[in-house]
Amino acid sequence: MVEELTDGQERELHERLRALEVELREVLARGREGAQVVSLDQPIGRVSRMDAMQQQKMAEAARRQAERRLGQVKVALAALEEGDYGLCRECDEPIGHRRLSARPETPFCLACQGRREG
Ligand SMILES: [Zn+2]
Repeated sequence: MVEELTDGQERELHERLRALEVELREVLARGREGAQVVSLDQPIGRVSRMDAMQQQKMAEAARRQAERRLGQVKVALAALEEGDYGLCRECDEPIGHRRLSARPETPFCLACQGRREG
């Protein structure tokens, strides 16, 4: 049986979510600057062009992941305002402090996350 969060645990996770929001916004802002610097039109050799494309692909994947995570952080912060933070968005059961302290923005309990991943 997973316990609901205590007030202290909720406060601590709230702090971490706010810090995470700032951090992810910075990552996304830096990503945009980086994308402008690397231009594939520049006359650089074939190998370095492939390197640049590979790097751009990786940066793009990292950016998408940061965007997804920022979305979850915002949902979690809104849930805190509403007073239903820490409850699974699928089954309404407590997600549990252990899982939330590993990933405070996670929207689902372990069981529902497992089902969603098949
Ligand atoms: Zn659930």
